[in-house]
Amino acid sequence: MTPPPDDAPVAFFDMKAQQALIRAGIDAGIARVLDHGRFIQGPEVDALEEKLAAFAGVAHCVGVSSGTDALQIAMMAENIGPGDAVFLPAFTYTATAEVPLVLGATPVFVDVEEATFNIDLADLERRVELVAREGRLRPRAVVGVDLYGLPADWPAIEALCGRHGGMFALDDAAQAFGARLHGKRLGGWADATACSFYPTKTLGCYGDGGALLTDDADRAALYRSLRTHGEGASRYEVLRTGMNGRLDSIQAAILLEKVPLLEGELAARARAARWYAERLRAPVVAPPSPTPGFESAWGIYSILLPDAAARDRVQAALGAAGLPSAIYYPKPLHHQPAYRAAHAAAFGGPPPLPVSEDLCARVLSLPMHPYLSEGQVARVADAVMSAF
Ligand SMILES: *Cc1c(COP(=O)(O)O)cnc(C)c1O
Repeated sequence: MTPPPDDAPVAFFDMKAQQALIRAGIDAGIARVLDHGRFIQGPEVDALEEKLAAFAGVAHCVGVSSGTDALQIAMMAENIGPGDAVFLPAFTYTATAEVPLVLGATPVFVDVEEATFNIDLADLERRVELVAREGRLRPRAVVGVDLYGLPADWPAIEALCGRHGGMFALDDAAQAFGARLHGKRLGGWADATACSFYPTKTLGCYGDGGALLTDDADRAALYRSLRTHGEGASRYEVLRTGMNGRLDSIQAAILLEKVPLLEGELAARARAARWYAERLRAPVVAPPSPTPGFESAWGIYSILLPDAAARDRVQAALGAAGLPSAIYYPKPLHHQPAYRAAHAAAFGGPPPLPVSEDLCARVLSLPMHPYLSEGQVARVADAVMSAF
């Protein structure tokens, strides 16, 4: 593909350039589904599951209806519910916290590290010990999030889960499909990995979709049952309480056309990140330059500004230049009205989460997708620096 001209409008996420490359294949794929008529869990879903398991290097992939449902099915399979504490970062998308509450469990918010935006292992350990000592809730699971596409420190999270009675380690990789940790893609690190194919993710369909990845055959079998109302070997044998969490064939057909582009798109995202890093200067903090072994999928490109006033100035400068930006996320989850009570209930007097609160006031996300030209990235970076 020829890169867009440097003065072309800059999209925050790309919805058009990629489609132009694969439109014929997508039209044909949708037509095939219309012809065979197996709209739910048709042959495209089986084919996609095989492709994604191979891509991620895991034994099993189970297609589901969204990233949120992937998280829910994974927790249902562990029987997580009332009396269970589920540890997760306070600086993430709402779905991560919503699922334990839907299942009657208690989310315990953990602070993140400023340098990586990911869960702080020391704070995690402290909170697991506090909950265990208090004795009201059972520490059951840790949901690590690979925020913005950067892998969390999975070997350390798994070791911590092992030290604390074999807690369930669940990877919320919704922003990080394709990221690598120590040479191995996310998918086989945690006990299970939840993926989202929401349109703006690194691998996105044209509607809702998701998947669970795992190396554990028993878990994969449970996920297949739970996504279809807890069914057994025959369709009308109901073994357990499940849900309607299936992936539909049209979305799978669309994803099958996009998978072959993914490797190149991940490289193009990393290249755009390098172009940004070459141009952004103090006092702007570019996202962590890759620590050896941690290869981001660059789902979202977020910079850190000195304070909220500087962020306002930068957003205004970008807006004046006709360039998009967004704030992921303006409020830590423990301050959200829906989660405040759960946060207070987790401890008598909940310990503070200063880094998550501070990041919400200072982060700003810039356009990031595989189809940016160097000149477009330069325009965005110049507009950012013009505010200082
Ligand atoms: C997008 C996202 C989800 C939810 O995925 P859906 O497919 O939209 O349900 C969960 N967690 C994180 C961190 C996300 O970014």
